[in-house]
Amino acid sequence: MSERNARHRQSMQKLKTHVDERVAAATEQCGLLMVFTGNGKGKTTAAWGTVTRALGYGYRVGVVQFIKGLWECGERERLADDANLEIAVMATGFTWETQNRDSDIAACRAVWGEAERMLADPGTYLVVLDEITYMLKFGYLDFATLKQALDNRPREQTVIVTGRNAHRDLLAMADTVTEMQEIRHAFNSGIQARRGIDY
Ligand code: ATP
Ligand code: MG
Repeated sequence: MSERNARHRQSMQKLKTHVDERVAAATEQCGLLMVFTGNGKGKTTAAWGTVTRALGYGYRVGVVQFIKGLWECGERERLADDANLEIAVMATGFTWETQNRDSDIAACRAVWGEAERMLADPGTYLVVLDEITYMLKFGYLDFATLKQALDNRPREQTVIVTGRNAHRDLLAMADTVTEMQEIRHAFNSGIQARRGIDY
């Protein structure tokens, strides 16, 4: 064996010991609370990626979209006819488009009702609350209401929350928090959002 190969083998052995130890230390089995936040691109796509992963094993998944996009959403188009997927969409446009707080609040409450039902259902393995952080930020939904539903959800259920400016108490509660950091975004150089890529 070359000296280089021997060195590689030694370092891989060390890495394996380290990984094995960490795997052995992770003994708890339960659903997770995950938050994908930050200003960079990728929060909603990461959530849909996890939805696809769960559906792939035949688990039941609920997705609640708190801000109905201006555009279609390719993932929704592709996955909507999966019998294990339930999607609830807030019946309003972007809040800066409706410019009507009362109708926004009514739409938020209505779709939150769907979310609450999913969060109470032991048969739902994964629930995505897409862009719900804005509902908290605008004061359409209070944190205590969300916290109660999250605290009381079935033990095996995983919840993914996406959106910028996540509430600090939500971050404190979460098992996994990922902050997408914007290094650059094409939109800021005048490149249009692209169908099938950005939405
Ligand atoms: P995506 O849906 O692509 O995963 P996201 O969920 O992280 O993005 P949002 O803040 O929800 O980001 O924005 C939704 C839309 O805005 C998407 O079309 C996305 O490509 C685009 N976008 C995301 N981040 C930025 C950014 N930093 N500047 C401009 N546009 C962005
Ligand atoms: Mg998003």
